[in-house]
Amino acid sequence: RGDSAEPVIPFAQPGSLTRVYAVASGKGGVGKSSVTANLAVALAQRGLSVGVLDADIYGHSIPRMLGSDAKPTQVERMIMPPVAHDVKMISIAQFTQGNTPVVWRGPMLHRALQQFLADVFWGDLDVLLLDLPPGTGDVAISIAQLIPSAEILVVTTPQIAAAEVAERAGAIALQTRQRIAGVVENMSWLDLPDGSRMELYGSGGGQVVADRLTRAVGSNVPLLGQIPIEQALREGGDEGNPIVLSDPENPAAVALRGVADKL
Ligand code: ADP
Repeated sequence: RGDSAEPVIPFAQPGSLTRVYAVASGKGGVGKSSVTANLAVALAQRGLSVGVLDADIYGHSIPRMLGSDAKPTQVERMIMPPVAHDVKMISIAQFTQGNTPVVWRGPMLHRALQQFLADVFWGDLDVLLLDLPPGTGDVAISIAQLIPSAEILVVTTPQIAAAEVAERAGAIALQTRQRIAGVVENMSWLDLPDGSRMELYGSGGGQVVADRLTRAVGSNVPLLGQIPIEQALREGGDEGNPIVLSDPENPAAVALRGVADKL
């Protein structure tokens, strides 16, 4: 390619067979990264070739959740991504020293994303998951510009207040004309030893977001699944061994695989 030309993003080329999902949430802490990491591993378990781009530049947690602090290597002009649990992954965390905070403005972010998409040797991916920062910021807009065919996956909790914020993250698709693949409700309930369910964060938020986005975009936006609160899910993330691997029959793992099957 010529040095003056825009970098070529393979996923944005006509005929690309890679399905790209941008995982979005209205606010932090709803489990967006946990869902992304588990979906990636679940899809890889099905034999698909999967990549994750940790575009949550400020809150990057994908390398820890996938249990690898390996750095990418450079081969000529390409960056070779580390592989963890059969998932190729690139994160800004791999390019910083220790826990140094990253303070980047929109244009720098855009440039970094462009490089991660164009200069990383992703190979022939079946699925690329992008872990977006929470909210409706620069990164979501950049992704829409760089890969217009990327679909949006909205993660929310059942809390109605959270659902309203999540709806905004999804509604960005109205402006960017991206397809919304669906909604994942996380932290839906806690299973108690007596067999009952405790709805710690209320109920109904995921369906509310799905219904409102359906009305807004004028086509069906499904609720793809409800993931219960499970200690093993949190531990799996902390230990770099996602629950779909560490405890595959756990209800949260079953629910996450159910979502992966619908993608
Ligand atoms: P986000 O990416 O939205 O900021 P994270 O995926 O980092 O959220 O999750 C925030 C915290 O909540 C993490 O410690 C994670 O392990 C925990 N967590 C997420 N989902 C669940 C769940 N279903 N059950 C238990 N803990 C969860």
